[in-house]
Amino acid sequence: TTPLIDYHSLSFLGRGGFSEVMLCKHRPSGDLRALKIIRKSLLVKQQLDPSSLIREASILESLNHPNILKFYECFEDDTNYYLATEYCAGETTYKRLRKMQKFSEEVAAKVIYQVLLAIEYFHKKGVIHRDIKLENVLLAFEDTLQVKIGDFGNACHFSFCKKSTGIFGSAFYLAPEVLAGPYTEKVDIWSCGIMLYILLTGKAPYNEKTPESIKRSILLHPFQVTKENPHNFTPKLMNFLKKLLEINPEKRFSAAQALNHSWLSHEKRKND
Ligand code: ADP
Ligand code: MG
Ligand code: MG
Repeated sequence: TTPLIDYHSLSFLGRGGFSEVMLCKHRPSGDLRALKIIRKSLLVKQQLDPSSLIREASILESLNHPNILKFYECFEDDTNYYLATEYCAGETTYKRLRKMQKFSEEVAAKVIYQVLLAIEYFHKKGVIHRDIKLENVLLAFEDTLQVKIGDFGNACHFSFCKKSTGIFGSAFYLAPEVLAGPYTEKVDIWSCGIMLYILLTGKAPYNEKTPESIKRSILLHPFQVTKENPHNFTPKLMNFLKKLLEINPEKRFSAAQALNHSWLSHEKRKND
């Protein structure tokens, strides 16, 4: 038997590239949990590494932060791999944006502040997420807005090898250096900047549609916020975005620097 008998399936929560996520009641504890299910046959068909969910689980297990989905357990049977995490009662920022069209600077700052707290934490632990985007940032509405980062399926440890290689994540969010060669944890900061731009404008950062043409565009003209400022962003926000979307990764803000920027000063005071 597997721990699967402990999980009573209640409803469908979402779908990713290769997974389906169900809301379940974990019978022994009475908790609501999210159960991510990956069909083994699908991994074989797509020639994907079957150990990817195991790696995702082991990275998630090593993290413990209020803005990161809490890990419960990981197991498998003949047909599937299973990853049980904390259930986030809300929706993804992707779905929320579809309803709202745009986020105000105030709400976007609340979201980005918590995303950066999580990034600062896992970067300190030597983990790069490599897939920060709207679909992987979950929102819960308790008394206040609560952000939970999930989907560590593309994450890696950089504590042993100082630089990483390999192209992961959605094309829109790729930092230019990811396409050029080795890169560091700063790629997550770039993705965070792209995410912030999308939240504030409801627009894609590139006009190209296919991943290949987007990547070509990133190599030729990586996304930059322009002086013309067509969206009437406040000067503080313009300055903040430029520091996240700095092309040179060494000059790009770290998560700690971003958290100290004046665009987030209102959030900082509340959380101190
Ligand atoms: P993939 O690696 O296949 O992209 P994700 O881990 O991103 O899978 O999960 C896919 C979707 O399932 C998410 O975009 C979200 O809509 C939903 N989801 C995942 N985990 C949770 C959770 N803990 N609580 C609520 N919804 C979730
Ligand atoms: Mg995902
Ligand atoms: Mg994934």
